[in-house]
Amino acid sequence: MDLLLDGKKLATSIQAELAEKVARRVAAGKRPPGLATVLLGENSASQVYVRNKRRSCEKAGMLSRHFDLPGNAAQENLLDLIADLNADPEVHGILVQLPLPAGFEEARVIRSIDPRKDVDAFHPENLGLLAAGHPRFLPCTPHGVQQLLVRNGISLDGADVVIVGRSNIVGKPLALLLAQKWSGGNATVTIAHTRTRDLAAHCRRADILVAAAGQPHCITAEMIRPGAVVIDVGTNKLPDGRLVGDVEFESVAPIARAISPVPGGVGPMTITMLLSNALQASEMIDG
Ligand code: NDP
Repeated sequence: MDLLLDGKKLATSIQAELAEKVARRVAAGKRPPGLATVLLGENSASQVYVRNKRRSCEKAGMLSRHFDLPGNAAQENLLDLIADLNADPEVHGILVQLPLPAGFEEARVIRSIDPRKDVDAFHPENLGLLAAGHPRFLPCTPHGVQQLLVRNGISLDGADVVIVGRSNIVGKPLALLLAQKWSGGNATVTIAHTRTRDLAAHCRRADILVAAAGQPHCITAEMIRPGAVVIDVGTNKLPDGRLVGDVEFESVAPIARAISPVPGGVGPMTITMLLSNALQASEMIDG
């Protein structure tokens, strides 16, 4: 392996750039970008994600407001809270941490967020704008993956990209982003999933392989073309508490040209792109 795609280091430098921009806005008399996070129930992984997002937000000089609702709260309570946040001028971005507890209608909750404050870019309006090629916000994990590649000098132009996973929050929007006709795009993208025939054969064709299946170590050395770039989005907690990706790092790293680790790869980039969207939302709303 020639290159470790160190998302933590890159995230730190981008977050410093964002903090400078925030400081300049505040010095010019504008409100700091405000991010509201909403967490339902006691999902421990979600609690960690939200805590990390809030910390990074505060470190960048942004306003962070957090709301905990019990897992058995009525959906109407959540929708009322979102309506209040939609109307709150101090809140520029609203993030409802997924997955929601059983009984909530995820699609309805997402649609209730003002699309101009939908910094996760999950709202169908924002997903549609991305598909149409003129996005408002870029979805955080896909944007983080793209930046991890581009800022490490890895060109997507004409590259064969295989994405393992077709979820609405990672695989599908990532494919839309990388296949677009713009700088940092222009890739030829294949989306693989559980019904893909001969996954290994598809993976071996990839110049850039992105694993977003949520299956520990499902991508192994024999699925990698020598010299390929491997991005591991997977974040899986093993029964012994260890956090691992979808890629079997030890066997794949010697074959790959570049590879992102877990932890310390895509995760910090996702948070950074969330902050970037919160800043962008404040610029769009407050001018
Ligand atoms: P989902 O469970 O929603 O989607 C997983 C996708 O992978 C599905 O499309 C599924 O196919 C496909 N898949 C699962 N197993 C296989 C397999 N063995 N072979 C081929 N395809 C497979 O997960 P998410 O997209 O939400 O997340 C994926 C992973 O990324 C998770 O580990 C998650 O924790 C992590 N993640 C990390 C983030 C970060 O910032 N680092 C952010 C978001 C997610 P099918 O559609 O056929 O079921």
